[in-house]
Amino acid sequence: MPSTPLVFIDLETTGTRSTRDRITEIAAMKVVDGQCVALWSSLIQPECKIPPTIARLTGITDALVAEAPTFGQIATDLHAWLEDAPLVAHNARFDYAFLRNAFKQAGIDYRTQLICTLRLSRRLTPNERQHSLSALLARHGLTNTRQHRAESDVKALWALWQSWQGAHTPPAWEALLLEERRYRSLPAHLDSAHLDRLPATPGIYLLYGHNHLPLYVGKSVNLRTRVMGHFQRDHQDEKEMRLAQQVQHVEWEETAGDLGAQLREAERVKTLMPIMNRQLRRQGKLTTWHWPDGDEAPQLVGGSALARPLSGEVYGLFRNARDAKLTLRAIAEEEQLCPQVLGLEKRQRGRCFAYQLKKCRGACCGEESLTHHTQRAKAALEKLRIHAWPWEGRLIIEEHHPNAAQPAWHAIDHWCYLGSAQSLDDARALDAENARFDVDTYRILSRFLRDPATHHLKLIVHAD
Ligand SMILES: [Zn+2]
Repeated sequence: MPSTPLVFIDLETTGTRSTRDRITEIAAMKVVDGQCVALWSSLIQPECKIPPTIARLTGITDALVAEAPTFGQIATDLHAWLEDAPLVAHNARFDYAFLRNAFKQAGIDYRTQLICTLRLSRRLTPNERQHSLSALLARHGLTNTRQHRAESDVKALWALWQSWQGAHTPPAWEALLLEERRYRSLPAHLDSAHLDRLPATPGIYLLYGHNHLPLYVGKSVNLRTRVMGHFQRDHQDEKEMRLAQQVQHVEWEETAGDLGAQLREAERVKTLMPIMNRQLRRQGKLTTWHWPDGDEAPQLVGGSALARPLSGEVYGLFRNARDAKLTLRAIAEEEQLCPQVLGLEKRQRGRCFAYQLKKCRGACCGEESLTHHTQRAKAALEKLRIHAWPWEGRLIIEEHHPNAAQPAWHAIDHWCYLGSAQSLDDARALDAENARFDVDTYRILSRFLRDPATHHLKLIVHAD
């Protein structure tokens, strides 16, 4: 790489969100054959207010950038100057994401290779904990005259680079850079050797941030492709960008296929509550409508009632009683059912208020027979009906996806996931003690059981 130019770059911004925050300063240094041949540096008018905390950190104030050009005004010149040379930056994905977005807004599709000095530092000194630019400069006895100003930072970065380079033979240094470019798309904090062990099998993966904070739990039939995909996506995606910036550690568990992965994922999301999984999955007090045979109206029951056989029908899964009532009320209005007969309003003598508004067909006052009313209500609720457990006893599902190293047996009873085992006998012996009805499990199972063969599943019924 020695004869191709490298561009050392540093940006100052109004914040850390690459799609919303703006650039306030850019400094870039072009290096050819180990010599700095050109410097490009400018304040940028961000066309928005600079938050006071940022202004204090960088010293870049609204007044300072008032006369500066906007990014749009310098975009064409800067793009030409950069010449598609690889960018060298500390936490390069950050600068790159800001640059790409700014160029995009100026109508320019900017892409180039990255060399991240933060990653490089982790590779060079894996036992050191601190890899911030200031910590590195201190370790190398280098000074930075104006920290958090682009030109000073980029010069400090260049000094650091020369110090590293001086400590290596040219072939060793080149080999190191080549290796770094191989992993250039990985987040700076990740250990690439660890990721090399990711299997191409089904399973779940867990992404952790600083202090082992759970960030995200996901699943895939190919762990390797899926996890690497997180870090290779387009940087325009704010959520992926935030995730990539924060990931420090990846763990995974192999499964026998997609079903095993989904069941395990649902379980882990609930126990770990990762900050980037949809919080919706968190289970409140699960509630459902139970309509006993022969009754005129359904009654609210807790979700745990589903874990045992019930007479009559069960409709809908709700996070709380309020949602359950709102849903039933909406259906009642749509179908002109009687809110009093359905138990949504206090039963009074005679016609209900809805009848007077022509929103009830009169089951309350004998105009519609209760049998007919019940029939219509059940028909309207049909789309919400929870399927009764159709098996005698426990269902064991054997799963073996072609990508998976070995099969597994999942034990389910009344829609409750009891666990998975490495053999049929072990699955039969799994304890039903802690079984708890769970919306996610129900939804996953009803999806997979519609078509077991396509999902590489074999059903084995085990009557206790
Ligand atoms: Zn009525």
